[in-house]
Amino acid sequence: MQEKSLGYAILNHKCPRCRTGDIFRYSFLQKPAKFTATHKNCPHCDLQYEREPGFFFGAMYVSYALTMAVLLGTAFILYNFFGDPELIVYITTVPVVVLLLLPIIFRYSRTLFLHGFGGVSYNPTLAKQSSTDNS
Ligand SMILES: [Zn+2]
Repeated sequence: MQEKSLGYAILNHKCPRCRTGDIFRYSFLQKPAKFTATHKNCPHCDLQYEREPGFFFGAMYVSYALTMAVLLGTAFILYNFFGDPELIVYITTVPVVVLLLLPIIFRYSRTLFLHGFGGVSYNPTLAKQSSTDNS
């Protein structure tokens, strides 16, 4: 089996320890309304995702940073590629873009926070073992 990179694991919302198990229960296409549903433990290596009670509250800081990036990015695009439109265009477009991207921001916040602050390092041996639980 090929080694999985950190970039792969983060992009695909994979467990920080085995980089094989999914962090979230459903893909966007399966159940878009349940985008927040997170596995308690890694379905592959059984790592507990919520490292301590309230662990994911810290993901709010990542979420804030990502939201600011989306907000500034949208304003930047409007200013540079749409000829600096009226203020009302900014006031209406920016929140709509942020709302549309909210599920993505939410998921990447949790994934980045878990990888960055979960205190777990990659264990390639666990990745190779076959999953014991496929439910
Ligand atoms: Zn795992």
